[in-house]
Amino acid sequence: ADLAIGIDIGGTKIAAGLITSEGRIVREVRRETPRHDAVAVEAAVVEAVRELGADAPGAPVGVGAAGWMNLDGSEVLFSPHLAWRNEPLQARLEDALGRDVMLTNDADAAAWAEYRFGAARGESHLVCLTLGTGIGGAIIIGGELRRGRFGVAGEFGHQTLVPGGHRCACGNRGCWEQYASGNALGREGRGLVAAKSPVAHALRAAVDDDPDLVTGALVTELAADGDPACSDLVVEMGEWLGLGLANLAAVLDPGAFVIGGGLGSASSALIETAEANYRKSLSGRGYRPFARVARAQLGAAAGLVGAGDLARTHR
Ligand code: BGC
Ligand code: ZN
Repeated sequence: ADLAIGIDIGGTKIAAGLITSEGRIVREVRRETPRHDAVAVEAAVVEAVRELGADAPGAPVGVGAAGWMNLDGSEVLFSPHLAWRNEPLQARLEDALGRDVMLTNDADAAAWAEYRFGAARGESHLVCLTLGTGIGGAIIIGGELRRGRFGVAGEFGHQTLVPGGHRCACGNRGCWEQYASGNALGREGRGLVAAKSPVAHALRAAVDDDPDLVTGALVTELAADGDPACSDLVVEMGEWLGLGLANLAAVLDPGAFVIGGGLGSASSALIETAEANYRKSLSGRGYRPFARVARAQLGAAAGLVGAGDLARTHR
């Protein structure tokens, strides 16, 4: 059959799958990301492909990674969350695997999957966001990913929203992803635990008063269970998210925003708050249509499904 191998390399995990032309995952393997070691990441990818590839000789490999790719997909220029700096990843992987490898940004890959198989089907002007370790961004117009002149378009997470704000791994301060991402939620949760705040009793109990054990995922989970302190953090994050959506609408005027990633898929409260604040913040509101704000449908699998499908359709 017309199979492809899709890989999603994120700040915390690597997921790889064998993908059909309908976007179905036949088989999947997962690993932790060795974040600080570029060579180890490559080795983990090679191992995952070998595991999956036995069933699909010749299947192309699509890699969506949390990094800034150059336009022809040969190099990872930079990654705020991983160890790549001008890394010729495509050639390295092709040499090691003996297969065609296509490199894309992880959020571009996820957006492509949502566009082809998920929440964004049929949308002609689309902006996608993935909320995980950071904020990933993608633009699809007229059925194609728009990647700018140098390949780095859609890095919405690194817009300065708060001059002088929290430090970001990209080198700046006050980036949007410092206020609306899994990392941001984790940082805020840690702050409450470190302050031994009585309002955060449930969170403190869950980590035995150790701030280092707080993650964005944990805060999201407790919020979904109805804990008020964690819910407040999620709502605050949703407000930041909505403000950023209004900024993006001012520039790109999309028909829909689709919000996914581990965190975006996990919390409906987050999306609802974001949509409300987007509507409150949009310039010229009342005299122009609002974009649809939708939760992604493919969950954590979007990145690998999209990476595989891009490799199949764009080689
Ligand atoms: C990176 C993006 C990536 C996103 C999600 C951001 O910090 O700049 O390239 O897509 O995180 O992983
Ligand atoms: Zn940044």
